[in-house]
Amino acid sequence: MDSFSMVDSTAGRRRLVDLSMSRVRESLLQYNGLTWFQLSLSQSPEDRMEGHVYDLRGAAPTMPRQRDPREILTPVTSCLECGAPLAHAHAVSGRLYGLGGVEGISMVIKRCSKKTCRAHHHYNYRKVEGQKYHSLDLDQMEYIFVNSKVGFSRQFLDYHNALQFRGGLSHNAIMFAQGEVMWEDRDQHARWHMEYEVVIDGHEKVSAKCQGPPPVHVGRPRKDGANKQRHNGWFMAVDPHSGMVMSVADMEEPENNVVAKNVLRKVVTKAVNLNCVIYDKMCVCLKSFATDKDFKQVKYWSIDRFHAKAHSVSCPCSPIHVRRLDLRLRSVNSSIAEQTFSWFRGYASSFNTKAHETHIFYVLLYVKMHNSLVRQNRL
Ligand SMILES: [Zn+2]
Ligand SMILES: [Zn+2]
Repeated sequence: MDSFSMVDSTAGRRRLVDLSMSRVRESLLQYNGLTWFQLSLSQSPEDRMEGHVYDLRGAAPTMPRQRDPREILTPVTSCLECGAPLAHAHAVSGRLYGLGGVEGISMVIKRCSKKTCRAHHHYNYRKVEGQKYHSLDLDQMEYIFVNSKVGFSRQFLDYHNALQFRGGLSHNAIMFAQGEVMWEDRDQHARWHMEYEVVIDGHEKVSAKCQGPPPVHVGRPRKDGANKQRHNGWFMAVDPHSGMVMSVADMEEPENNVVAKNVLRKVVTKAVNLNCVIYDKMCVCLKSFATDKDFKQVKYWSIDRFHAKAHSVSCPCSPIHVRRLDLRLRSVNSSIAEQTFSWFRGYASSFNTKAHETHIFYVLLYVKMHNSLVRQNRL
């Protein structure tokens, strides 16, 4: 044993001190009434120390206790899955983080009154088959709950967003300030995923390289001079973590920027933390995307690693050659998205036998079925 951790129960936030063996011996001699614990791992049940002296139970992190905690419940009154009215189900005690610190609250959960549905509605989301889905628009939310027990006030989040935006403060600096001033101990705050990314792709494969404009995909001219019949295609945005399709559009022309932009625009307006877009033809449309004011929140325009191998050393979107893209993509695995696109390319032959009007119907239907399987974890 060569190092000790010492806990001073009166020192507030900074309580852990690492000490050497000799310092511990000194302290034991110096202070009266010092309680200390020796933690050891027992090899067999017989090794266990018995008796009330050893029967110590750990306390959970201190919860702010209030006699009448404020009740928080969703303003939604009818089920967002089936439309039936909602009824109060039960309440759980939770914590709400605000600029004044932590407040103990009572979260009243509503449940759908229809027997075959029974979806639970929490303040800002509902739970369907174990997954959470947003129930409120951002401007309707006074709080944002990340689960039934932990929520943040909008004011709290907006304040920190503003600091980050205007002050250019790093995420770590804000965490530090919160740790110093707001939380009594370091476990009192929660961390959450701050950045999101999306992978976009379309059905028609147009070969595109960085130099020069991409060739227009019209197929080989036929003997009679007529061009190959146009394909009905789609363009979609997929969340690389789950494989969920976030936005889709049908496409009569080979992939083009207008369709791609419309699909992306729908995702961006819903996902405020989205800052990275991955597309295997990104360098071709980078200029048009990066200058669009609707997309100013996106800071990383990238090609996925696999397709980047075919791009030049000077490609501005290659994570192989641009270090900031490489770093951003480290937490992203685009294989689920690739799998999703490849499934939809597989369905394309059945879409193509339909007239254009039925085509988009089938695309939407397949997307709905796909997302429903993702929700149920059945892919
Ligand atoms: Zn319902
Ligand atoms: Zn390129």
